[in-house]
Amino acid sequence: MIFKPEYSINQKVFLAEDKGVELYLKREDLIHPFVSGNKYRKLKYNLIEAQKKNFKILLTFGGAFSNHIAAVASAGHEFGFKTFGIIRGEELEYKIEANPTLSFAKQSGMNFKFVSRDEYRNKTSDSFLNSLKEEFGRFYLIPEGGTNALAIKGCAEILDDEDFNFDYVCTAVGTGGTISGLINCSKSSQQVFGFPALKGDFLHQDISKFVTNTNWELITNYHFGGYAKINEALVNFINEFKNGYKIPLDPVYTGKMMFGIFDLIEKGFFSKGSKILAIHTGGLQGISGMNTILKKKNLQIIQ
Ligand SMILES: *Cc1c(COP(=O)(O)O)cnc(C)c1O
Repeated sequence: MIFKPEYSINQKVFLAEDKGVELYLKREDLIHPFVSGNKYRKLKYNLIEAQKKNFKILLTFGGAFSNHIAAVASAGHEFGFKTFGIIRGEELEYKIEANPTLSFAKQSGMNFKFVSRDEYRNKTSDSFLNSLKEEFGRFYLIPEGGTNALAIKGCAEILDDEDFNFDYVCTAVGTGGTISGLINCSKSSQQVFGFPALKGDFLHQDISKFVTNTNWELITNYHFGGYAKINEALVNFINEFKNGYKIPLDPVYTGKMMFGIFDLIEKGFFSKGSKILAIHTGGLQGISGMNTILKKKNLQIIQ
């Protein structure tokens, strides 16, 4: 059996009591040194399945700064799989060393195939996947972002018995796998709020496919213009948060969620006397990639 439970530490941090609500943060970012937060949860049952079916190769898809790519590379290295990453953007082939995510993945043994943005759009097409099988051999496919039924099963383990006395559970949302797991394991007395890190109306439908409970909602006004888009206010918030609580947030997901939660608390959105549990889904490896971009633009970086 792989993925030993020594990684399942459960640290909740009390952050604030403000406007009559208590806010706690669940440190899933500490679950593993490299396969952080929700990516660990999403990979767990997939790797068990891959091992059971005797796959030697994991293949997946991702962009230049993808937490998922870093996680698959590291987990593959740790648990004895060869890994292939199909990366969006042909130009990146010559910029691996300048890219912290890709150079980490490479050091963890990941092999890359760089494809154009057009070609990348075929990531779920049978003919493209078959051509990859011819090129690389039999592989266990993990979809972009890692979301599938087994990933959602893993994410349903994020909440434990003590977490069911929280009124609200909040998480950042990318593909919707993590929130689906949280919704599935939540109690009907709880409300699950998702903070999408990107624009688009497809998420509600995607999540609905994986869940039966209806105690959830997406809060769509904290995406900061779209996926991996940030501004000075967000960078300031992340830096102040770290100064105040000694806890780092990432700029793509958890920073936006926490910005949203603070703003909503300020506006009196959560009912008085309630307890909020925010999930720190990890993603901290993305900070240095974002900082290389901020430095090039002569903007304030994330500390
Ligand atoms: C990938 C990721 C998410 C999004 O998870 P989904 O299951 O795709 O919704 C949220 N937070 C962090 C830190 C991530 O890396």
